[in-house]
Amino acid sequence: MDLSSIPSVDRLLQSSSICELVNYYGHTAVRNEIRKILDEERTELKLGNQDSPHNENWFVEQCKCRLECDNKTPIRPVFNLTGTVLHTNLGRASLPAESINTINSILSHPCNLEYDIESGLRGDRDSHLENLLCELTGAEAATVVNNNAAAVLLVLNALAKEKEVIVSRGELIEIGGSFRIPDIMLQAGCKLCEVGTTNRTHVKDYKNNINDNTAMLLKVHTSNYKIEGFSSTVNEKELAQIGKEYNIPVVSDLGSGSLVELTQWGLPKEPTIQEIVKDGVDVITFSGDKLLGGPQAGIIVGKKELISKIKKDPLKRALRLDKIIIAALFSVLNLYRHPEKLTEELPTLRSLTRSLQEIEVLANRIKPVLEKVIDNKANIEVINCKSQIGSGALPVELLPSFCITISNIDKEKHAGSFLNSIVSAFTKLPIPVIGRIKDNAYCLDVRCLEDEETFLKQLKFLNV
Ligand SMILES: *Cc1c(COP(=O)(O)O)cnc(C)c1O
Repeated sequence: MDLSSIPSVDRLLQSSSICELVNYYGHTAVRNEIRKILDEERTELKLGNQDSPHNENWFVEQCKCRLECDNKTPIRPVFNLTGTVLHTNLGRASLPAESINTINSILSHPCNLEYDIESGLRGDRDSHLENLLCELTGAEAATVVNNNAAAVLLVLNALAKEKEVIVSRGELIEIGGSFRIPDIMLQAGCKLCEVGTTNRTHVKDYKNNINDNTAMLLKVHTSNYKIEGFSSTVNEKELAQIGKEYNIPVVSDLGSGSLVELTQWGLPKEPTIQEIVKDGVDVITFSGDKLLGGPQAGIIVGKKELISKIKKDPLKRALRLDKIIIAALFSVLNLYRHPEKLTEELPTLRSLTRSLQEIEVLANRIKPVLEKVIDNKANIEVINCKSQIGSGALPVELLPSFCITISNIDKEKHAGSFLNSIVSAFTKLPIPVIGRIKDNAYCLDVRCLEDEETFLKQLKFLNV
């Protein structure tokens, strides 16, 4: 095999069409890419997989193509047609248009993040959100951190370090991505005191385990499972009573929680933050990007004295929110001042409350376009399906929806490789489409499809 006819790195770098690439991507990136392609070429020739070397043009094209690919922003938009509205791996809540405008102005200017404009003195970054959070939840005080896991860690560390925290055995949860209550306790420097049993915990279980070293009664929302049958738990109101009786703070990690009553739209019941505040719980933590529909954040509301202790904990500084998130969270919370507009303006609630009829009509509009593109290489149907809220909220409750299914014409034959090729074709689109596989079919639940025009336009690139 004659390897000498392969062009050299230098010769390729001097070719006029490479010049353009060097201008755009820089000399180092282009040279490294060329070296890689030439190495691969030599290997292929030596292995006999290829008879003769490619010409110079081919190398230039390869180089251009690969650099274009590598240079795509690694984090980019996708279409979430999985049927899970708050999909953690797909970034959970999408922000409303209003937040985007606020973020834009904060990003491109200095701002009064920690500056009191009136007095000219140093301000508090939490102050931008605290009043509104108190107004909406009915709590006395509030603070915010990077996410709800951080909120739980901070609250434990600030209020119960080197002390005991009582938790029911039915609530020792693990949330995806390695958030486990016993581990968080350890990290926060607290001693976990488990009480009750997996299925039943009573008031006396808490009371009998309180001692001089008890610093907190913690209730954890069992976000991703439900204990049914012969079971009982001590609710927030009862727990708050015990806390008062023994003068021990009661904390509730609500996980998602909601600021509005979801049942008004026929959605499953989820505790509202306001209810838990009213129950007398001292501190409540919840996520910004679950049912609230905002950016990633951990929100802590509760009694003034305790929140002030939490704010002073050294961990708070390490877990504090960025100005962009503060601005975005404010604009989302502000929408809750007009609850009647939420299902229109807040993407999460818009998707969750979308009417079944609207979803069906949408699926039926897309079906013929897909049929045209896929020709007759697959079966395409619109069928009933169930969407999930996701992110641990209301795990067992499903929402009726419609999806478009794509399945092999010959149902028995090569289902695996057929489905793989369909998945790959959809993920290779300019804005990747993420569906799910169920019953040997590729399913696209259109509940969360909002930009129909872009979705349809890019189908011409679908390569099945
Ligand atoms: C989701 C959840 C968390 C973690 O919240 P993040 O915002 O994802 O950090 C903690 N506790 C409960 C009960 C949850 O549901």
